[in-house]
Amino acid sequence: MKNVIERMEENQSAKKIADFHVKQQQPYQFKRDYAEIRAQEFYNHPEINGNCYVAVGGLDSITLYLFLHSIGIKVPAVSVSFLEDKSIQKVHRALGVVCLKPALREDGTRWTKARVIKECGFPVLSKEIANKIALLQHPSEKNATVRHAIITGETGAYGGYRKGTRMKLAKKWLEKFGGYENEREGTNYGIPDFLVSDKCCYYLKEKPCNDYARETGLFPYMGLMASEGGRRQKALMLNGCNYISKGTKRSAPFAIFQRQDVLELALEMDKYYLAHRAEFNPDPSQWVDTIVPAIYGEIVRDPVRMDLTETLKYVERYGALPVGQLRTTKAQRTGCSMCGFGIHLEKRPHRFDRLRQENPREWEYQMYHIGVDINGNEIGWGHVLDYIGVGWRDDPFERTDKPEGWL
Ligand code: SF4
Repeated sequence: MKNVIERMEENQSAKKIADFHVKQQQPYQFKRDYAEIRAQEFYNHPEINGNCYVAVGGLDSITLYLFLHSIGIKVPAVSVSFLEDKSIQKVHRALGVVCLKPALREDGTRWTKARVIKECGFPVLSKEIANKIALLQHPSEKNATVRHAIITGETGAYGGYRKGTRMKLAKKWLEKFGGYENEREGTNYGIPDFLVSDKCCYYLKEKPCNDYARETGLFPYMGLMASEGGRRQKALMLNGCNYISKGTKRSAPFAIFQRQDVLELALEMDKYYLAHRAEFNPDPSQWVDTIVPAIYGEIVRDPVRMDLTETLKYVERYGALPVGQLRTTKAQRTGCSMCGFGIHLEKRPHRFDRLRQENPREWEYQMYHIGVDINGNEIGWGHVLDYIGVGWRDDPFERTDKPEGWL
C-alpha cells in the first residue's frame, strides 16, 4: 500500500507530465520561443553564470548549437567526433567543434570500441537492458536486490516491497540472459557465452564529456527531446528543460520539441550558418554548404495529403493552411556506426548489412573478430546477433527476390 506522501508525489508527477504534454502540442513558434527563454534562464542562472558548453553529436545538437549562437549564447561546442559519421565530422569541423578523445585507461592509453567490447562486453539491445544484463553477469551482495528485481520486478525490503516494477527484464530477454539467477530464483533461463555491457558509451562518450566539464567548470546544453523516448524521457518530463541540483546541472532547451520542430529549426539555422560561417571557423576551406550532414540527405517537406473538405476543416480549426511534414531523405537518426543498441528493432537491411555493402573488410572484422567470448575465443557481432535472433548471414543486397522496401 502506498502511503500519503507517495500518493502526493505520484499526483505531482502525473500533473507535471500532463503539463509537459500540453506544451509538446503547442505550435512551432511557441516551442521555439520557449526554448529561447529556457536557454537564457539557464545561462543567466546564478549557479551557472554563463559557464556552459554544448554537447554536440548529430543534427539535433548541431541545430541546438547554432540556435544558441543565434540568440547570443556563444559557448563552445564539444564532441567525441570520431565516433560519428564522416559527414557529421565535416560539419563539426565547419562549426569549430572541439573534438574530445575517449577516456584514458589506467595504463595511460585510451579506450577504443574494440577494447571496451573485449574487456567489458558487447553494447547490445539498449543501454538500459545492457546495464541490467551486466548486473546479472557481475553479481555481488550489494546488487542482490537489483538482480532480484531484474528477474521478478519485485523490489524487496530495500525497495519498499513493490511488485511489477519496470526493473524487470522483458520475458524475451530473460529467456536469453536471465539464467545467472536460476538457482536463486528457481527459473530456467538461458546464459550467453559472451559479456554484455553499457560501458562503451561511458568510456567513449560520457566520461570524456564529464571530464571536460569538470576540467573547465562548464555545464552542458544538450539536444535531448522527450519525444524521442529512451531512458531520459521521463526525467525530461518531470524536470523540464533546465535541471539544476547539487550534483547535476544541465539544460535541454528542446525538451518539448517534436521531430518536426527540430527539422523546422534546422532549416532556419542552415540559413543562419550561411550568413555567419566565418564566425564558426575562419578557414574557408572548412566551410560547408549546409549544416545538414550528408548522412541525413536533405530536409524536404512532403506534400499535404488532404482533400478540399479536409483542408477547409483544417483552416477553420487552426486558422492557417496545412503544411506538409518535414523529413530527412536518408537517415532519420544517426549514432555510432557499429553499435548493437537498437539492432533488434531495425528492419533489414540493417546497419550491419549496409556495412557489408560499403566496406566488406570492416564488416568481416566486426562480424567475426571484434570481441571475445567468456573463454577468450575470438567472436564478433555475428555471434551476438545469432544469440538474440537477428539475421545477418544472408546478404539482402544480393537477393533477387527483394521484398518491398528493401534497397
Ligand atoms: S552508441 Fe554504441 S557504439 Fe556508440 S559509444 Fe554508445 S555503446 Fe558505444
